[in-house]
Amino acid sequence: MNTEKQPLIQVKNLSKYFHINKKETLKAVEDVSFDIYEGETVGLVGESGCGKSTTGRCIVKLYNPTKGTVLYKGRDIFDSKNKNEKLEYCKNTQMIFQNPYSSLNPRMTVKDIVGEGIRLHEKISDKELDDRIESLLKTVGLNRDHMSRFPHEFSGGQRQRIGIARALSVDPKFIVCDEPISALDVSIQAQVLNMLKKLQKDRSLTYLFIAHDLSVVKYISDKVIVMYLGMIVEQADAVELYKNPLHPYTRALLSAIPEADPNIAKNKQRIMLKGEIPSPINPKECCRFVERCSYAKPVCHESIPTLKQYTDGHAAACHLL
Ligand code: SF4
Repeated sequence: MNTEKQPLIQVKNLSKYFHINKKETLKAVEDVSFDIYEGETVGLVGESGCGKSTTGRCIVKLYNPTKGTVLYKGRDIFDSKNKNEKLEYCKNTQMIFQNPYSSLNPRMTVKDIVGEGIRLHEKISDKELDDRIESLLKTVGLNRDHMSRFPHEFSGGQRQRIGIARALSVDPKFIVCDEPISALDVSIQAQVLNMLKKLQKDRSLTYLFIAHDLSVVKYISDKVIVMYLGMIVEQADAVELYKNPLHPYTRALLSAIPEADPNIAKNKQRIMLKGEIPSPINPKECCRFVERCSYAKPVCHESIPTLKQYTDGHAAACHLL
């Protein structure tokens, strides 16, 4: 897919470590590489603590990487000394946060929250600003009356809509959606997901969609990347990944998706993973899934498996493949 075009975002050998003390290092992300092309949605999936949000935060420059880098339209975002280039990148890449309760400043009105970015990037009259905010609120299903209210006056779904309006306010090209529906009621999740899909079509947006649930990612993604304990274990086009999962971890995640059709459900076998995701502090130099994998062999304890291409665009990291 899109092999001749330059990717909009290129994540290259990205690692992010947090040094806890002299002896302990939390390796949140380790040597992660992937491309995101204009107009596509890449789903980034894994359990809590697998490094997916840290990867997203590095891409929007909330964190500086320990190793590796991120390119935007071929330019290194961490290398630029040019102030205008840095501002342009911040404008073009936005983030929708997981928790709509903590990601909005409770002391700011909706008008200030949504208008803050516009004021920073543009010289605009008060009247134009009000009109722009009203139009953004309409786009996300709110209205002008909401402008003077504070976040605590809204439901969770409405707060996430305010967060989406804030992300859209500076007309970005790329948005990191960090588990945007996981804190919402199930009844609201589909509404927000459909809205994100419509916005992508109307505004030619590109998404990195972070989730712990493969069923949500299936609905929205063109390409899916599965992470485990800071590393990519599998990546493929969405249809290919769901049809032909290779890595034992991906297969376990897929088996956990509830099946609506009772005839298929009765034949479906759930793969139960042993234990919890291990600590990312000083991880061993072996397959990071080894303690939970039912196929583990001695070789799995000896080295980290590399991510190998199996079919066009389908890669997995497992010694036994
Ligand atoms: Fe399991 Fe070994 Fe493959 Fe790791 S490398 S996923 S432990 S079989």
